[in-house]
Amino acid sequence: MSRFFSLPWLHPYTPGEQPQNRDYIKLNTNENPYPPAPAVRKLLTARDAADLRLYPDPDCRGLKKKLAGLYGLTPEEIFVANGSDDILNFVFWGFPGEKGAVFPDITYGFYKVFAGLHRVPCREIPLNGDFSLNPRDYYHQNSLIVIANPNAPTGLALTPGEIQGILDTNRDSLVVIDEAYVDFGAQSCYPLLSQYENLLVVRTFSKSRCLAGGRLGYAMGSPAVISDLERLKFSTNPYAINRLTLALGEATVAEEAYYREISQKIQKTRKNTENALKGLGFLVLPSLGNFLFARRPGISGENLYQSLKEKAILVRHFPQERIGEYVRITMGTDEQMEQLIAALEEICHENSPD
Ligand code: PMP
Repeated sequence: MSRFFSLPWLHPYTPGEQPQNRDYIKLNTNENPYPPAPAVRKLLTARDAADLRLYPDPDCRGLKKKLAGLYGLTPEEIFVANGSDDILNFVFWGFPGEKGAVFPDITYGFYKVFAGLHRVPCREIPLNGDFSLNPRDYYHQNSLIVIANPNAPTGLALTPGEIQGILDTNRDSLVVIDEAYVDFGAQSCYPLLSQYENLLVVRTFSKSRCLAGGRLGYAMGSPAVISDLERLKFSTNPYAINRLTLALGEATVAEEAYYREISQKIQKTRKNTENALKGLGFLVLPSLGNFLFARRPGISGENLYQSLKEKAILVRHFPQERIGEYVRITMGTDEQMEQLIAALEEICHENSPD
């Protein structure tokens, strides 16, 4: 840390490894194993780079209109940002509740980082022993409430009815539902937007839309909350989303059928992988994300992670209380998952007591 730095209390987020030097089977950051839709890929090669000399539309009107059409909302109910992390940053910056923020003790690690960055007091509410979330723990909080649904890294999800209970009992607080993984089998709560102006639904193009490298996220909420988010964006980086990504995003929205199909494929892969893991003695949480959270009694989470890495397979391990014995495995292609299971068979064999 330099002697000029004035934020010594800052605790940045540690992203999953993005190795540049070895060919890994990369199952560690919940990317999609499939490419964007053909029309999206074509657009990238067909475009004339000459228009990159121009700034992008800071209002993102084209993309907002397309997203609004998809969900039956108005463009005033849509916010677009450079990845959903940017939106979460704005949320902690602009909407801390009277008593700060609350979120589960086991969830997306960036929530705590943003709370720290903006010095928002936060309370981490423990999940149940089986990692399920009790909605009643979030009633009458008088705080910013942030819930990933499905949760990460567990994959467990709430129903819209359960979320409605939280919205009903927190009418004066913003309730942020982070739906990064909702397209892999959970139910979205965006239809509740017409009844609750305290609801903000956050989404990303990084997972089900195969566009993690493009950096694109969006939020759906009441026009008042969306215009507050715009104020934050226009106070920092109005051109945060580049022209190429805006165009790719618009093309992506038009290809719903393709993305629905690969999501089905990933859900099938998840089921098969879950069964194979259980066959090897793993305990696997019933995930609705594009990942599985699992542990193998007798082999530590750290050992699983390291042993797989030696075999050129990357998974995510969180050396943290309650979940240190688990690894989070992103769903790859079926071939990649076969290689994962073969590697785990060897690891289980090497670690068997006899
Ligand atoms: N929310 C959750 C729960 C996530 O796991 C992630 C991805 N790490 C994000 C938000 C951020 O995604 P992005 O910034 O790529 O949109």
